[in-house]
Amino acid sequence: MNITLINRFLKWSGKATALAIVCSTLLFACQSAEQPQEEANVATEQTAAAADTVQRRPAPDFYVIPPGMERKRVWVCDDASKDVFHTKNTCEALRPCNGAFRNVSLQRAIEEYGRYNCEICSKELSDIFDDKKIRG
Ligand SMILES: [Zn+2]
Repeated sequence: MNITLINRFLKWSGKATALAIVCSTLLFACQSAEQPQEEANVATEQTAAAADTVQRRPAPDFYVIPPGMERKRVWVCDDASKDVFHTKNTCEALRPCNGAFRNVSLQRAIEEYGRYNCEICSKELSDIFDDKKIRG
């Protein structure tokens, strides 16, 4: 294939792409007259962007629950962006919650909900996730 042929092909494919864009724009314009599809798309993108900004850590792959603590009751917010549990249900970090509040055992909060200790109300429980800590 020589350069002229490639250039011709590129020009042709450029035109074809432009035509495709025009066609789909026209089609889209007709569709949006019937229903506000554009608005719906924008809303979806915004939700996705908002979800991306909140970094939820993956569930802890290391934890040692101190003996007798498994059944300790803790609070979790069942919200896709939350990754901590709280020992105090009055904790300020627990208040902004878009899901349901749940009172579960410490073991369940870690194993089922993949939660870490809250740095505000449960700082002393960070040892649970410390794989460097020497346990007697
Ligand atoms: Zn807390």
